[in-house]
Amino acid sequence: MTEMKDLQTSDRPNWCPGCGDHGILIAMKQAIVNLDLAPENVVISTGIGCGSKINQWIETYGIAGLHGRSLPIAMGVKLANPELTVIASGGDGDGYGIGMGHFANTMRRNLDITYVVQDNQIYGLTLGQTSPTSEKGAKGPSTPHGVIEEPVNPIRLALSSHCTFVARGFAGDMAHLTMLIEAAIKHRGFSLIDVFQPCVTFNKVNTHEFFRKRVYKLEDERHDTGDLVKAFEKAGEWGDRIPIGIFYQTEKPSYHDEDVALKVHNPAKADISNVDVGGLMESFM
Ligand code: SF4
Repeated sequence: MTEMKDLQTSDRPNWCPGCGDHGILIAMKQAIVNLDLAPENVVISTGIGCGSKINQWIETYGIAGLHGRSLPIAMGVKLANPELTVIASGGDGDGYGIGMGHFANTMRRNLDITYVVQDNQIYGLTLGQTSPTSEKGAKGPSTPHGVIEEPVNPIRLALSSHCTFVARGFAGDMAHLTMLIEAAIKHRGFSLIDVFQPCVTFNKVNTHEFFRKRVYKLEDERHDTGDLVKAFEKAGEWGDRIPIGIFYQTEKPSYHDEDVALKVHNPAKADISNVDVGGLMESFM
């Protein structure tokens, strides 16, 4: 049985006290424990950003990539060994900015990957510039007169990119977020959880209190997670009431179910004892 202590690393997170990333870290660990996943069978890939340090503080396998590249790494791992539980994680700037092309294209492939986005609506690591999810008018070091562009709506983007599990959580509600991460890992196919992750240092608008006052759970309103049109409508809600929970979930063959080779063969278990890669390696020299 996997226990919380099995996932504890020797050093502790150095995020700012009160940062929403602490809640996401605990929820992710709790989900792994609740699903009794062996730590050696879990891989967490990240990009660059405050939240991308999450895999330094969970005792599973972890890969830190370049900015916006958590998903290509996750894809590579999953393609190489589909038996692993693969979680990608990173911030809104990482995933919805420089990583946007990977985001849309990974979703339409429906690879069995869980993507947890720490969405604090700014770039925290680089001292608070506005990000793709910053609200119109938001001010920051890069936009002293306010953001001119409309924000990216990651939920709507996912719904229109064939994502088969689309959810939103709040780092201040760890029990609910744990439930979402568990459901996402169990889902066969690509799952997105966009998480409201207050940056207590640089975002003085979208705070814990801001979200605590506004978020409500879709399941409490008996939202039909099979209704794509309703999910799209709910994803547009912003203001006094903001929904969290599972917007949409559907079953459809994953990439591994459809690929002629992958559905019968795990590349990581192929016998390569007689394969000579010397020529290939030399070609890279
Ligand atoms: Fe968290 Fe913001 Fe501090 Fe980064 S700067 S650790 S996002 S509170």
